[in-house]
Amino acid sequence: MATIHQAENTVITYPTASGGTVASTVPVGAVYAEGSALDWGASLVEGAVVQDENVAPNAPWSTVVTEGHVLTIVDVGGNQSADCLLYNADDPEERYSVPDTLAWQGNAYVRTGTVLRSSEGRPLMTVVGNEIDRQDTIGGACGKESNTLRYGHHVMFHHGCRENFLAEASRRGLGVRDLVSNLNWFMNVPVEADGALGIVDGMSAPGRRVAVRAETDVLVMVSNCPQMNNPCNDFNPTPLRMIVVDPCGPASPDDARPPSAQDTSTPEDAA
Ligand SMILES: [Zn+2]
Repeated sequence: MATIHQAENTVITYPTASGGTVASTVPVGAVYAEGSALDWGASLVEGAVVQDENVAPNAPWSTVVTEGHVLTIVDVGGNQSADCLLYNADDPEERYSVPDTLAWQGNAYVRTGTVLRSSEGRPLMTVVGNEIDRQDTIGGACGKESNTLRYGHHVMFHHGCRENFLAEASRRGLGVRDLVSNLNWFMNVPVEADGALGIVDGMSAPGRRVAVRAETDVLVMVSNCPQMNNPCNDFNPTPLRMIVVDPCGPASPDDARPPSAQDTSTPEDAA
């Protein structure tokens, strides 16, 4: 008889509608630990703000960033993996390519100056600002199938980034065949001297940012990672803030307002 590997899981207790409580390793709804330090930040580059949205914990998000515009992603609660896919907005058959990106730059990490290349080798976006040492594009995205293999059958119904991507892709006329290897903003995947990989405690913090400039019109899809079985989200999924700026436009005032009125995306979207 096969043995199911049971990983150590963080158990969270949630109140239920009937007044009781339920203990679960799966994050339920757009919640994060009470007392979490949040820093909503601001755009990394100056210019006219053309879009400014918050992404709830566990939820998917997407937008088209116009050529020349810069998307800043704010890690509002710190150590929150923002899994990310990029497509040529005019021809989504051309999409982000991990091997093209890494081979062209001859380095395994994504940092300021990294050109994020397509399956045709062309630049889709360029990293123009980065407030953590290195960003990952090797660790891949979580999904219910890989979660089941890695952590046991009890996580079968814990939706992952692939499920988020699929929900968001369906709104853009894309499907499962369009989900390719991805970027993991703010996830720490060190490449050791012998080539070994890890997914370990993050090096980000509340308010840390990365900024990417579109080199053509780019469809950006993000999964605000719901993973609770490894440390990629510090076992506390937190929000993201997405700010798109036109650097050629008049500067908008910094805006660090509380998020309550701005949330545009909820975990229900990902159901
Ligand atoms: Zn994930």
